[in-house]
Amino acid sequence: MQHQSSPKLQVSGLQAYYLTERGSLKAVDGINFEIQQGQSLGVVGESACGKSTLGAALMRSLQYPGKIVGGNVVLTGIQLTKLADSRFNSEVRWKKIAMVFQGAMNALDPVFTVESQLREILKQHGYQGDIRSKIAESLKAVGLDESVSKRYPHELSGGMKQRVVIAMALLMEPQVLIADEPTTALDVLVQSQIIALLKKLQIEKGISVILITHDLALVAQVAEVISIMYAGQLVEIGSAKEIYKNPKHPYTQALIAAVPKLRSEDKKINFIPGAPPSLIDPKEGCRFYPRCPHAMESCRKDPPEFKTETGYVRCWLYQESQT
Ligand code: SF4
Repeated sequence: MQHQSSPKLQVSGLQAYYLTERGSLKAVDGINFEIQQGQSLGVVGESACGKSTLGAALMRSLQYPGKIVGGNVVLTGIQLTKLADSRFNSEVRWKKIAMVFQGAMNALDPVFTVESQLREILKQHGYQGDIRSKIAESLKAVGLDESVSKRYPHELSGGMKQRVVIAMALLMEPQVLIADEPTTALDVLVQSQIIALLKKLQIEKGISVILITHDLALVAQVAEVISIMYAGQLVEIGSAKEIYKNPKHPYTQALIAAVPKLRSEDKKINFIPGAPPSLIDPKEGCRFYPRCPHAMESCRKDPPEFKTETGYVRCWLYQESQT
């Protein structure tokens, strides 16, 4: 696959906090990554690690008390974090970057047909072409027959609803698609079909896909680059091959060890002892420190991002490799 030299999406030092009465909850705290055209990036982590907040922050869809408090997001040269709301809504949202929100398939309006709901989006965004053929083309792109447009949401299976939601996100032909847990509540067979669809759209349309999930096994099927998120920070980024074969961060290692190995003799279930820290008042230093089997005195200082073969790792164990 040909990638452009400049990244499609570049995120640096992004911070998104929830301003609560008890203090700022640092759900996204200094995130750095970039994604090229036609590339897929998986964002993997336990629930409440901040990965959905990251997706919503990229879409500028955070609801109060959520707020972007720092950092930069640049999409094809446009500084999204500095853009006025009106310009972001008219020029960027859904047109350049779109998102399939978690549980979106359950938010389809039950009283309108698929066609009405797709038509409404096209009208809202001032689509000038032939609406009927655009709807047929969008449904076809996600593997649905045109006749589905006449149905109501309750007449669709879970997999079909999720395809409709993906078709909605792609209506205005965005360059970046964020999919937040797009296979939750679907059976295993349909999960694979939805993941295959995302891969197909990425390859055929050259869309950059950000897949947010807690499922490390699932992300391996679609993402070329995997980022591991823990307590509001990305602790490791690398090629999917590198992350699986040679995980560096102790949290990544523990996460991979916790994936059940159905075909192996070893049926032991591994888990990570302890719990993630409070994000309202995280202690100084590495946030994995209380759970890490390799913790050292130096880990009381916040680790910087040390370069690896295909990305970076935030862990003092790799300080030596940079000198
Ligand atoms: Fe463990 Fe220290 Fe690395 Fe944190 S910085 S993951 S505590 S070794």
